[in-house]
Amino acid sequence: LEDAMLVAARLQSSLSAPIALANATVYLSASVGFCLSDRLDAPTSADILQCASNALIRAQRAGPAAIRSHSEVAAADLDRQNELTKDVAGALADHQIAAFFQPQIATDTRVITGVEGLARWHHPTKGMISPGLFLPACQDAGLMCALGQHMMEQGFHALATWDALDLHVPTVGINFSTTELGDHTLVERVTDTLAQYNLAPHRLSVEVLESVVADDGDGIIIQNLSALSKLGCQIDLDDFGTGHASITNIRRFSIERIKIDRSFITGVDEDKDQRDMVAAILTMAERLGVQALAEGVETQGEERALQSLGVAFLQGFGIAHPMSMQDATDWLRTYSTTDVQKVDFSNPTSDQQEPDIEMPRRASSP
Ligand code: C2E
Ligand code: CA
Ligand code: CA
Repeated sequence: LEDAMLVAARLQSSLSAPIALANATVYLSASVGFCLSDRLDAPTSADILQCASNALIRAQRAGPAAIRSHSEVAAADLDRQNELTKDVAGALADHQIAAFFQPQIATDTRVITGVEGLARWHHPTKGMISPGLFLPACQDAGLMCALGQHMMEQGFHALATWDALDLHVPTVGINFSTTELGDHTLVERVTDTLAQYNLAPHRLSVEVLESVVADDGDGIIIQNLSALSKLGCQIDLDDFGTGHASITNIRRFSIERIKIDRSFITGVDEDKDQRDMVAAILTMAERLGVQALAEGVETQGEERALQSLGVAFLQGFGIAHPMSMQDATDWLRTYSTTDVQKVDFSNPTSDQQEPDIEMPRRASSP
């Protein structure tokens, strides 16, 4: 195995020398997949080639310049993945993939400021499949734009339904993949879909991963984000702190709010290092004039710590888990009928830090 790895790495390094082309320099990277014949029972050359090709597919999925060797376990994973890839088109068409909704609240008033739409696949035989497992299948099947469109429609349908029920949910956050952000028809699709549900553009928060913004990006991604921002949509930078977005890019990509990644939030009440990190991120956000939301808030202690640090918005299991449309509607009904939103925060005698109100907590957990 070690020898094969060394050969693969040597191949990569000889291909990585820059190539001068007219006025440009081109850098190549190579993904490598291989199969050792002693890892297969009675292998034929065709078997070895097939297993090496599958290892190459896994290397390509792992990012540029990865090396993967054939193994039984990984091959079984790939089979499972291929099976999902085969099923995913039908699942979208049959509405087996649905949006779940997770509330976001304002830290000080605890008023609902929006929900995030998160995809769930109710597979007829495999049960509930999380996006971590089926997003690669969507990607392989070339269905990322179809999934995004489906999620946007479900999100807008939810907002329109809640508007009609007088349940106040200002925005829905939709996760846009790199593929969608590079789609030339994106702005037109968003505009048309908003119109179809009779919603104003500010009702949509476009969630973009920090890793997308960290790359200088394709021109089209910047163009799409700036057009969506001009249209009036909010742009949220997702998983902030994990993807090395530069300050320049936060400006260039029209970001209005950062979503501080859960890894900085866990234990923020007990861990001084976590608090220092969040405080530093907030200082940066303030200087840049962007707002901040804390993701993955699980405990009341974390909520209190985040409130005293001055994080404006909260999202996490501590407020509510992602819920089906029906469960979210019930949750919103209960939430809006508590006194919390009727508290007069302009009244100086009311305790603005910790309103003494019983909150609906930990709603149904799917
Ligand atoms: P994300 O956008 O960062 O979404 C937040 C994830 O954290 C969700 O996982 C959510 O269920 C989970 N979460 C929320 N609060 C807490 C908490 O308090 N504690 C913990 N431990 N986890 C919490 P989920 O639904 O499995 O989604 C995973 C990722 O898949 C999302 O991360 C997002 O990047 C992606 N994703 C989900 N739906 C879509 C979609 O429709 N389109 C695209 N392109 N990506 C999606
Ligand atoms: Ca997100
Ligand atoms: Ca996130």
